[in-house]
Amino acid sequence: MDARVKPCATKMSKFTAEVVVVGGGPAGLTAAIALAGAGVETIIVAKPSLEDDYRTTALLTGSVKALDTLRVWERCREHAAPLRVMRIVDDTARLLRAPEVHFAASEIGLDAFGYNIENRFLLTALDARARALAALTVVEDEAESVAIGDTEVAVRTKGGGDVSARLTIGAEGRRSLCRAAAGIETDGQRYPQTALTCNLRHGRPHEDTSTEFHTEAGPFTLVPLPGQRSSLVFVIDSAEAPHIAALPDDDLAAEIERRAHSILGKVTVEPGRGVFPLAVETARRFGIGRVALIGEAAHVIPPIGAQGLNLGLRDAATIGELVVAARRDGLDVGADELTNQYDRMRRADVASRTLAVDLLNRSLLSSFLPLQGARGFGLFLMDRISPLRRAVMREGVTPLASQPRLMRGEAL
Ligand SMILES: Cc1cc2nc3c(=O)[nH]c(=O)nc-3n(C[C@H](O)[C@H](O)[C@H](O)COP(=O)(O)OP(=O)(O)OC[C@H]3O[C@@H](n4cnc5c(N)ncnc54)[C@H](O)[C@@H]3O)c2cc1C
Repeated sequence: MDARVKPCATKMSKFTAEVVVVGGGPAGLTAAIALAGAGVETIIVAKPSLEDDYRTTALLTGSVKALDTLRVWERCREHAAPLRVMRIVDDTARLLRAPEVHFAASEIGLDAFGYNIENRFLLTALDARARALAALTVVEDEAESVAIGDTEVAVRTKGGGDVSARLTIGAEGRRSLCRAAAGIETDGQRYPQTALTCNLRHGRPHEDTSTEFHTEAGPFTLVPLPGQRSSLVFVIDSAEAPHIAALPDDDLAAEIERRAHSILGKVTVEPGRGVFPLAVETARRFGIGRVALIGEAAHVIPPIGAQGLNLGLRDAATIGELVVAARRDGLDVGADELTNQYDRMRRADVASRTLAVDLLNRSLLSSFLPLQGARGFGLFLMDRISPLRRAVMREGVTPLASQPRLMRGEAL
């Protein structure tokens, strides 16, 4: 444990650093830790969170390696559950149904595909690490305006603080101030579905297995937590969501047990439910001028297949790597060349994951028989052809399009 815990900076002050990160969610904190850990003077403007986030995140092996390298994982380990097997069950009543498919991490030489952790523990671990780094200043405030100049970026906070830096990393989520300041537009759409989330206790062990039931309304996914607990992401028709979200605990537990075919035995619902309308949104640029966008400021995808924050952490690792390399070479860390390169480096990864999630979701919603057939046939092939199954698993956990240094366990 680091002994030097820095107090937060006071609000009404002037700060200068090489990089300012706006937004203290998991993507922003990871970027700030990566940069400051490599000696880059960094400021993070992080609005203190008012409530606990009971959602969980399935972090794939590359993300876990990155957090381990950044000395964050040591504070997460005891709260995280390994994901050793992933099971997909076609729970539709359709004519063309897919076989049940099991993916085991051991088939590709891994102990686990990744780990599932509650966001509140992940954020606490990131926050503790951030406050222990000498090169990182935490400004506990909200950014009010961002002005992008030729040689620097100026961020003004609501409490009257002024921050200037060569590069700003926009990590403030869906309504990104940095994105708006850079004039970057987004493309996207809403889906007719909503994800309900909650954590459960259950009578039977999960055996480190995540189970995804594919239904006509979307996936119903149970993901292991430590002990006899799991998290649930329950995607349903938005019209049905308010009714199910408002059920008393016992009725909700009975409904969940029914939809899970009692595979985990009797379930009890823990406090802390979430309701998230499904949407996809992608920024037209991830980097331009002195601005780089990471996490949901750059891309929002539905919570299907555990991709969102894994993409966000690869963004953080990539921008960290580019900035540290530029600094080592004595270059301007906010130069156009750097943000353009960042944009190019993140396109394929984000586009391919967004497309895959969209296609899977549409194939469930669609009553178009050939599309249902294609999904079923794809799963059938994966079930029967081991090399194909292994290739899909490898691409799922370590994407060919993006393996920044931190995801390989290498320091910046
Ligand atoms: C139901 C659900 C389940 C999910 N499960 C998974 C999963 O299993 N695996 C996975 O990889 N992903 C998952 N995701 C996606 C993941 O949760 C998101 O990708 C992730 O939370 C985005 O992190 P972020 O840091 O980009 O944004 P956020 O978490 O939105 O953080 C942005 C931060 O910026 C702050 N902020 C906003 N405006 C300002 C401002 N002006 N000044 C300062 N601060 C500001 C906000 O308060 C917030 O703290 C899931 C998402 C949902 C909805």
